[in-house]
Amino acid sequence: MELTEIVKERCNKSIKDCTNAQLYDALLELTQKMASKEESGAGKRKLYYISAEFLIGKLLSNNLINLGIYDDVKKLLEDNGKSLAEIEDMEPEPSLGNGGLGRLAACFLDSIATLGLNGDGIGLNYHYGLFRQVFENCLQKETPNPWMEDESWLIKTDVVYPIQFGGFTLNSRMYDILVTGYGSRTTRLHLFDVETVDESLVKEGIDFDKEDIAKNLTLFLYPDDSDDEGRLLRVYQQYFMVSSGARLILDEAVSRGSDLHDLYRYATIQINDTHPTMVIPELIRLLMERGILMDEAIDIVSKTCAYTNHTILAEALEKWPMHYLKKAVPQLVPIICELNNRVVKKYRDESVYIIDDEQRVHMAHIDIHYGYSVNGVAYLHTEILKNSELNHFYRIYPEKFNNKTNGITFRRWLLHCNHRLTSLIEDLIGPGFKKDAMELHKLADFAEDHAVLDRLLGVKADCKAELKDYLKQTQNLVLNENSIFDIQIKRLHEYKRQQMNALYVINKYFEIKEGKKPATPITVLFGAKAAPAYIIAKDIIHLILCLQQLINNDPEVSPYLNVVMVENYNVTLAEKLIPAADIHEQISLASKEASGTSNMKFMLNGAVALGTMDGANVEIADLVGEDNIYIFGESSDTVIEHYKKADYVSKNYYDSDPVIKRAVDFIISKELLSIGQKENLERLYQELLNKDWFMTLLDLKSYIEEKEKAFRDYENRRAWARKMLLNISKAGFFSSDRTIAQYNEEVWKLD
Ligand SMILES: *Cc1c(COP(=O)(O)O)cnc(C)c1O
Repeated sequence: MELTEIVKERCNKSIKDCTNAQLYDALLELTQKMASKEESGAGKRKLYYISAEFLIGKLLSNNLINLGIYDDVKKLLEDNGKSLAEIEDMEPEPSLGNGGLGRLAACFLDSIATLGLNGDGIGLNYHYGLFRQVFENCLQKETPNPWMEDESWLIKTDVVYPIQFGGFTLNSRMYDILVTGYGSRTTRLHLFDVETVDESLVKEGIDFDKEDIAKNLTLFLYPDDSDDEGRLLRVYQQYFMVSSGARLILDEAVSRGSDLHDLYRYATIQINDTHPTMVIPELIRLLMERGILMDEAIDIVSKTCAYTNHTILAEALEKWPMHYLKKAVPQLVPIICELNNRVVKKYRDESVYIIDDEQRVHMAHIDIHYGYSVNGVAYLHTEILKNSELNHFYRIYPEKFNNKTNGITFRRWLLHCNHRLTSLIEDLIGPGFKKDAMELHKLADFAEDHAVLDRLLGVKADCKAELKDYLKQTQNLVLNENSIFDIQIKRLHEYKRQQMNALYVINKYFEIKEGKKPATPITVLFGAKAAPAYIIAKDIIHLILCLQQLINNDPEVSPYLNVVMVENYNVTLAEKLIPAADIHEQISLASKEASGTSNMKFMLNGAVALGTMDGANVEIADLVGEDNIYIFGESSDTVIEHYKKADYVSKNYYDSDPVIKRAVDFIISKELLSIGQKENLERLYQELLNKDWFMTLLDLKSYIEEKEKAFRDYENRRAWARKMLLNISKAGFFSSDRTIAQYNEEVWKLD
């Protein structure tokens, strides 16, 4: 075993005499050596997946699994009195993403490598990534999250590009992270960074001088965009990323034989949401710099770039004021204007213009006009894009629109995070599912097998006990492992409706006070970060933390109901929480969640969904059938109608239903005000009563009813285990290997 030699060479010791930190560094070296032996690179056309986020999670165990040495390493360490789990704990989690979109990009890289495709990721190397969340007085506080260490997965390269901004130039250096595929090839994640970044710029919390671009450019992911400087900084970041990426793409294409007139035969670029959109005008500019005329440059780039839409929320669709672009990237302005002129000449419909009458540049419109593919991320989402949100574009370019339902990598979200379940499955159907996720279908044969169902319940109970220990040790949180674990983990956003779950908790609290006790105790678990400038989202966290304090300290209620909000929800926590879930909450307002991917992770780990007909829930429901999922709430059609007619009035629901009124009023009750802040709770109360833009009260009653039904069904343990098993058996469709294979067949067409 090479590890012994590496350890010897590095520390002149044997494994048993090394510290965990030394072993971690040695394992890092071992995996990097092994990974770099297997690099992809065949094939003429290469994919570049450009994304502002890659939420990759810890890499050690995943790499060991993908390289096929996990069991051997674990055993070798155990034989020497060491624990791989403890060594894993040494690794800091790179926080290069916010949530679903960034995690998707990470799952895609894993699948691209696993399928042996010729494709790399391109992004930015944020030194502090997203903030670290801490709770103080039931409020979210943001602190920096340094994750880079002297020895890390980052490999410094010699690739350096000068990046020109309005009035100054910054050098961009490329760092690489090797991305191992399962049992096969390695690809790379290229992360660009400014050499002049200065971490000492960060003062109180995560505040810093937003105007000193040379020092701050790659400090944080998505710096606070509540003011002009913050928004302008995003433009600088985005241009830095795409200009660096564009040069790399051109250099690589040329070195493999392209004369640039045929760039699209050598490169295809997947633009993940609108953050990398400037790659389109930037490539046009660079091609023109190299002697290609504008008409042809536009044509070449349009055959090279493809766009993935991730949201229909208007506030999330980027529209940059022209004066930002004039200041940060003046060289792109004439190109963007020309791209717009061509649209204006051709179409009368102002809604498809790139530049609107307020001189704002609609980034998605650039992607749609000047890319060759536009895709949504779940069936329902793509239908909504075609039929309503982007209907005007769909009429012009029906052939560009396609759906690619999201997926997750089963290596991380089953093999790595749930060893118990993995070995149970292997026992039942053999190891084939590890390569071909569709083989999970075979599990359905055991749906009536009581012994198997009992083993499945045993696995779940063990995972719950493990989560209990972990949260006790790491966050001093106390869980009742004999309760139902009902989990909602995702970014905090009003459309995801954590507030509805909180109102359920309030209702249950009242019922228990009235003597209506649940048959099995319930633990409602939350994990969520709120954007630092998103006031209402932070108020919702405040409400949840206040409820946690009130309920867990109430001896009348706490034996039957607990609320637990984990701090700093991230990939590592997701890997612990998801295997332990009985019920998972996917309760977004129908039409608003483009896909969701935590729904897929939970399903794969044998949890049953409580959700609306939104995003990929629709496809999950279709696969598992109505007996194996809990669906409630108004349909996306109804919701879209409400928005169109502007006829939803939350106050009417509040006035006409005493259950709703009682729950909402409790937000400003003396009980909660004695724990929390009046300002936050009042504001949230007013918001729900007078605005409720995401229609919480519309669905609250049907939500309560359906959740009660799920809790009742939970009591029949074997029938519940059957639901768990059938969910797992249908999860194969949601492997990101399937998603990536579809992208390749229908969009990228790599050879
Ligand atoms: C999967 C994942 C998400 C996405 O969750 P959704 O519920 O689909 O929004 C967000 N954060 C982390 C850490 C994840 O692992």
